[in-house]
This record gives sequence, structure tokens and C-alpha cells, in this order.
Amino acid sequence: MGLYIHIPFCRKICPYCDFYRKRGEVDEMFIEALIREIGNSEGGKVDTIFFGGGTPSLLKEHQLDRIFNTIYKTFTIDENAEITIEANPEDVIPYKLRIWKSFGINRISVGVQTFKDEGLKILGRWHTPKQCMDALKNSLNYGFNTNADIIFAYPEQTLKDFERDLIALVNLRLHHISAYSLQIEEKTLYHYWYKKGDLNLPENLKDFYVLRDEILTSYGYKRYEISNFALLGYECKHNLKYWKREKYLGFGPSAASFYPERKLRTINIASLSRYIKEFPTPKEYDFLDEEKERIERIYLGLRANLMSLKELERFIGRPSKDLLRFFNIKETLSVKSEYLHIFDRIVEMIISTK
Ligand code: SF4
Repeated sequence: MGLYIHIPFCRKICPYCDFYRKRGEVDEMFIEALIREIGNSEGGKVDTIFFGGGTPSLLKEHQLDRIFNTIYKTFTIDENAEITIEANPEDVIPYKLRIWKSFGINRISVGVQTFKDEGLKILGRWHTPKQCMDALKNSLNYGFNTNADIIFAYPEQTLKDFERDLIALVNLRLHHISAYSLQIEEKTLYHYWYKKGDLNLPENLKDFYVLRDEILTSYGYKRYEISNFALLGYECKHNLKYWKREKYLGFGPSAASFYPERKLRTINIASLSRYIKEFPTPKEYDFLDEEKERIERIYLGLRANLMSLKELERFIGRPSKDLLRFFNIKETLSVKSEYLHIFDRIVEMIISTK
């Protein structure tokens, strides 16, 4: 199974982000609560660990030491486990890389977002293009399996800008690239600006998706999920568990766990103060009935190219030609790049098919 550990602290809050996080250093009382939650969990065999956030690269050495000690006391960790940490570029420096390596972390996901200076400012990021580039090179030089997260179709971005970002990444031969289109999430500053008409978003979203697939596939990357590309054998094992609906346990405020055998998903309370004060951790319980499970299997299966035409037929009967035109049909179905920008609409059409 996989473990997800949510570190809900950031140096600064980005205006487009709706993850659960607070501004500031990692609080020692949070570490106490996290260790309590991990140490009291059910145990078992683990082959992926993912530190997400927030900004887990803010964790200090003694904090990582306590977390890993508790993980190793509670679980049996596979010797080839994939252990990922999300990092902001300014943290991917030799001092921290050596510490991460000493704890067995072997995969780094760097939050680059873009290499364009004005783009970084528009996205409210504080690092520089040079810091992004140095971070990726440092991570590769220290032998980490390396991912870059980038955002496309942000305000004022042109296709040419996006092309430059993609070429910079492929020239580094990163193992993995996650390229997300900007989403305007409710209760963010971006949402407020968007409503006021202050965000000049590119209109040709489809062209961004098509360009992304053209460039990345021509450099040997395979799209194995809507936003995720990898060189052969470097797909993120941890994220695949989400899409394949395998078991994972989440720790920290707002973290989700999934128990396939019980058809149950739980979500920890998204409140740092209550997470610290209350134990057992308050959480929501979501039991999946047959219909919920059907929808989830279709949505996740199509999202991550995991569903064959036969399996889809089992859920909805024979799909019409009109539906099939959205897909490349091989062993499994994958949405054609020119339709990726309407992925959710395609899934809705399929789900409503009787
Ligand atoms: S995008 Fe990342 S760094 Fe920015 S606020 Fe969200 S979690 Fe923090």
C-alpha cells in the first residue's frame, strides 16, 4: 500500500492554490500530532511514500527523523519503495539533497510552474527561473528520480512561452513531467480576480494540450494520465495507486485514505488546530455504493488510460461512434489530445449513458 503525508505549511500562499495549507514554518505541535496519527495506524506493507503539501521541503532534519522513525516502527517498508518529496525550487540545494538521501527519499517533485520570469510573477511565485533550473539539475546530479510540475494556460501565457518551458524540460531529460492546465478554484484570489474580469486567460486551451502532447511524445515521454508524462518505467508508482484504486493511507490535515476492501474513503479534517488538539483525528467517511463505484471506475480508468473498450462496454453497453471518436483505441482507451480540454464533459456523457 501507499502512504501519503500532508505537510500543510508554505513560505507564501500562491493566489491560484486551493490545497489545505498555512503560511509559516513547520510547527512542532503539528509534528507531534502527525507522529501520533502515524504511530496509531494499522500498519502493513508499504511500497510507496509521498510527502505532499503544502511544502514538505520545509521539513527540518530532526522533523524528518521523527517522522521516518515512526513510519519504520509502524510499517514494513519495501526495500525498493518509491519515496517522493515535493519541493519548492529554493529548497533543492546540496545540503537538503544529502539529508533527503540519508532518509531513503529517492524521488523529488519540483514545483517549477514556468521558467518565464513574468510568468512566475503572475503566478505569485517568488523563485527565479535560474533557481528552477538549478533545482532540477541538482536533483538529477544527486541521482534522484526527478519530476517537474509546470502550469500552462496561465494569464498572459502564449503558446510560444509554453513551448519554451517544455523544451527546457525535455533538454534536461527529466524522468517525469507533470504539466497541468491552470484551474480557477473557488475561494482563491485567482477566482476573485477572474470574477472581476482581471485575468487575461488564453482562449486556445485545446492548442496548449495538443502542443504539449506533440512535444513531449516526440521526446520519448508517454502520457499515462491527463497531466502526467514519463520516460519508460518512470511512472509515479504512488499516484498510480490513486488511479488504480489501490489501498493508501493519508496522514495530516485534509489527507485522504482509501480502503478498497471496505469500499471506504476517509478524509481527515482540514483544520490544523483541530488536527493538533483532537485524537482520534476527526474525519469524514465516504462509503462507496455501487453507483458511486461505477462512476469512480469510469472517471479514474479513463483519466489514467487504464480502461479497455471491453471494460467500458461492461459499464455502459456498446458506446456510440459519437463517443468513440474522442479516444485512441489500443489495448486501453486514451483521450485524444485535441479533446483533453473537455475531458470532464466526455466522462459526464459516458456516465449518463444507460
Ligand atoms: S502552490 Fe504549493 S507553495 Fe503555493 S500555496 Fe499551494 S501548496 Fe503552497
